[in-house]
Amino acid sequence: MSHAPLVSAQDLTRQYGEGEAAVHALAGVTAEFPAGEFTAIMGASGSGKSTLMHCLAGLDRPTSGTVTLDGVEITTLDDNKLTALRRDKIGFIFQSFNLVPVLTAGENIELPLTIAGREPDREWIEQLVDVVGLGDRLTHRPAELSGGQQQRVAVARALAARPAIIFADEPTGNLDSKSSAEVMQLLRRCVDEFGQTIVMVTHDAGHAQVADRLLTLSDGQIVADERIAVAV
Ligand code: ADP
Ligand code: MG
Repeated sequence: MSHAPLVSAQDLTRQYGEGEAAVHALAGVTAEFPAGEFTAIMGASGSGKSTLMHCLAGLDRPTSGTVTLDGVEITTLDDNKLTALRRDKIGFIFQSFNLVPVLTAGENIELPLTIAGREPDREWIEQLVDVVGLGDRLTHRPAELSGGQQQRVAVARALAARPAIIFADEPTGNLDSKSSAEVMQLLRRCVDEFGQTIVMVTHDAGHAQVADRLLTLSDGQIVADERIAVAV
């Protein structure tokens, strides 16, 4: 059995702009994310959290350094290979849900599979719909759903293709506290019941306690890496 981390980042930097105006959004980040672990990332606004998530998920390319996902160094892949790898191995949950407005909830959930030309695993999709509690909302369009329901659709969509890892960038940033708590419980269940690996950015110290581990970013660097004690 391999104990290699599922995702590892080696000395990542990401610079925006040049010369005097250059912003060093990531200033040398090295981190490992083992399979089955739920990692929370916190840090002040502008500390590089989204940039790190985008580089780890292959949505952005670092200026230097490497990201290895499931044994593949993604930083050197061409765009086509990177797109295919993202589709097969990565789920992403955005603060703004990013659902397709003209599709129903059910169609949104299956969209990653439709795009990949893959036949949905009916049993898995049904299980997901059940877990996210959307059974009676599948034919509704996003505009007919509450924010919390829309984000639960987005969570199911991220899980539909059984990705190796899910990245969530402030997934509760647009939700009220009740919906936020529901989405957090849902993510926790994905880790506990499906062994899902999750990396989540949050502003909320309480939400970070739901994770197994907390990384803190400051000015593009990791300044703390702590285990989270299990609440009793
Ligand atoms: P966070 O998610 O922690 O708020 P970001 O990763 O979005 O931080 O941003 C980190 C830094 O990089 C900030 O100073 C931000 O202004 C800058 N930045 C992010 N994206 C861009 C961009 N596309 N162009 C220029 N600067 C950017
Ligand atoms: Mg951000």
